[in-house]
Amino acid sequence: MTNGSLFIISAPSGAGKSTILKRVMAEVENLVFSISHTTRRPRPGEIDGHAYHFVDRETFTRLRNAGGFLEWAEVHGNFYGTSREAVETETGQGRDVILDIDVQGAEQLRKGTDVNAVSIFVLPPSVAELERRLRGRGTESEETVRLRLDNAVRELRQAEQYDFLVVNDDLATAATQIAAVISAERAKHRRLADGHPIPTEVLSPPDR
Ligand code: ADP
Ligand code: 5GP
Repeated sequence: MTNGSLFIISAPSGAGKSTILKRVMAEVENLVFSISHTTRRPRPGEIDGHAYHFVDRETFTRLRNAGGFLEWAEVHGNFYGTSREAVETETGQGRDVILDIDVQGAEQLRKGTDVNAVSIFVLPPSVAELERRLRGRGTESEETVRLRLDNAVRELRQAEQYDFLVVNDDLATAATQIAAVISAERAKHRRLADGHPIPTEVLSPPDR
């Protein structure tokens, strides 16, 4: 069985990545979301083990020092990391995995030699709209909003390093574009749109 593919999705905070990802996960079959570890506190409604594994700094540092993360970074003052074991287990079983990680994490994976990932950057239609969405979400303090907007400018400058750029103006269009990238990558790796391998009797038919 061939290994599953890795997809990286990055975006400045508030661009709508989580909203798009929910749609993509509902639309695309056999796609696994990589649940990162983070030292950030859960937002109201966030359940441990769903969007994130919430851990303290000590636990994070222990995992990091033991080589447990495929990549990790400090983002907006908190640590975030991708579990090596969880990702390798899924891809080893032929499943595609989607990583919601920041530009630093994406750069680590791009520079490393052991991971081959397709990277997608989600852009807001404008910086003004990004600010409106971030404030409109109502989950951050004024201080955190400012920090995230400052970081957004730096992150947007990294967009050109990515394989695919998707502007999240209309939500449905952006989700469809991302689903199309995943579908095309599957075709490249001789898989059906649902992620399963193209049957060998079709690829190498016996003589008649
Ligand atoms: P991120 O995960 O990138 O930080 P979210 O998915 O939380 O961003 O989206 C930030 C805010 O913008 C949310 O309130 C969300 O409902 C809104 N939003 C997301 N996509 C769109 C869109 N295409 N048009 C208008 N608002 C959007
Ligand atoms: P949030 O706190 O809004 O959930 O996420 C903040 C940022 O951290 C986002 O840019 C998100 O992509 C990034 N992030 C989440 N998990 C990881 C991870 O495992 N590694 C890295 N490098 N960034 C992550």
